[in-house]
Amino acid sequence: MRSHLLNDTTTEHYRRSVTEGVERVAAKLAATDRPFTGVTADDLAPRIDAIDLDRPLGDTTAVLDELEDVYLRDAVYFHHPRYLAHLNCPVVIPAVLGEAVLSAVNSSLDTWDQSAGGTLIERKLVDWTAARIGLGPAADGVFTSGGTQSNLQALLLAREETKTQDLGKLRVFASEVSHFSVQKSAKLLGLGPDAVVVVPVDHDKRMQTVALAHELERCAEAGLIPMAVVATAGTTDFGSIDPLPEIAGLCEQYGAWMHVDAAYGCGLLASLKYRHRIDGIERADSVTVDYHKSFFQPVSSSAVLVRDAATLRHATYHAEYLNPRRMVSERIPNQVDKSLQTTRRFDALKLWMTLRVMGADGIGALFDEVCDLAAEGWKLLAADPRFDVVVEPSLSTLVFRYVPAAVTDPAEIDRANLYARKALFASGDAVVAGTKVSGRHYLKFTLLNPETTTADITAVLDLIAGHAEQYLGESLDRAC
Ligand SMILES: *Cc1c(COP(=O)(O)O)cnc(C)c1O
Repeated sequence: MRSHLLNDTTTEHYRRSVTEGVERVAAKLAATDRPFTGVTADDLAPRIDAIDLDRPLGDTTAVLDELEDVYLRDAVYFHHPRYLAHLNCPVVIPAVLGEAVLSAVNSSLDTWDQSAGGTLIERKLVDWTAARIGLGPAADGVFTSGGTQSNLQALLLAREETKTQDLGKLRVFASEVSHFSVQKSAKLLGLGPDAVVVVPVDHDKRMQTVALAHELERCAEAGLIPMAVVATAGTTDFGSIDPLPEIAGLCEQYGAWMHVDAAYGCGLLASLKYRHRIDGIERADSVTVDYHKSFFQPVSSSAVLVRDAATLRHATYHAEYLNPRRMVSERIPNQVDKSLQTTRRFDALKLWMTLRVMGADGIGALFDEVCDLAAEGWKLLAADPRFDVVVEPSLSTLVFRYVPAAVTDPAEIDRANLYARKALFASGDAVVAGTKVSGRHYLKFTLLNPETTTADITAVLDLIAGHAEQYLGESLDRAC
């Protein structure tokens, strides 16, 4: 069994194993002609159930053969140009190489004595990101597992900065289309059930600042404390960007912490064409960025940035065995002092490899391409009488619904759209997402693949219309 330990005597085994795995994945990627096979959980579960984990196969080739059957064949492939569903990007090769390196060396970024250079690389990327945002000289931050954790940490700092014991008095303001992790964080942070004040959005799904001002005023009048405003720079559903400068002004006026959730919109930090769309982000107290959403990085790669490094102390605890207090005066850099996690992956290496090989402009150009594609797609949809499209894209999301002229019952149209999404998924020809707009079912393309073309968009729209028509035809038959 020792031959499986990665060390100086097993490098040949390591090389062969990893190469064999890379060959399989490369062959798979080259051969996938659809983003998905349409497999159902009922189809797949028995295959996985049948495997006895207490009877290992012992041999890498046999295990890879088995993996083909239980995972690789039926995985959902984000690199495919007709994967248009969620906020998943195709990944860039330098980042995948980084992933291979970081798991083989297996540094842990909690302390200097488990990572050395890894800690300094992460710090440099945090500084780089903070500079791109424009957070100023006192900024800092840390890599996290994802936007959910970044939002939680930002709101923890905001809560502590209020210096209030009476948690029931704290209020967090976020738009009605903000990410659900805001609600979850409020709960985890012990805030009351009414803590999150939901602010309405305008026609373009951006927070209404007049309504925000009104809510902040009401909060003050009631003797409550405005703990934070969460502005979303790139909503999950629409890619809409809240009016950051106006929100920053209101945060200053009412003494609220400004958190910008740029989990999706952070791609604009590298954009060559559209950076101005997130102007005002530099006034935030904290920012969430998900490189695994719009920097073409493998999951996980994410960070939380703060304007004032000192606020990170709210996440600091000292353990004698790990990061004793004296290390601070010895100037030993321990990232655990800033993190909610302890043992932590060196995810920063992926972004490092990406920036060193491609540069930020390379990433920004790819993100610009998907924004341009979304603008083209919006024109196609707006000109197509079969579809109703909402919200001209600020990033790369399109939300629309099939609306046949002959059908007037909105509930029937809902069912046709739901059916089309399901039928498309089952066919594996394309994968699209769905959401609700004003109580009605819509479909959604999240475009993050520069390889997707307008021809792909047109083809998938035709598939959707075909499935929806089939549903409506059969529904008519049922009624007769
Ligand atoms: C995806 C997303 C999150 C959550 O990020 P994870 O990395 O999935 O945890 C938070 N906010 C917004 C706006 C998002 O789109």
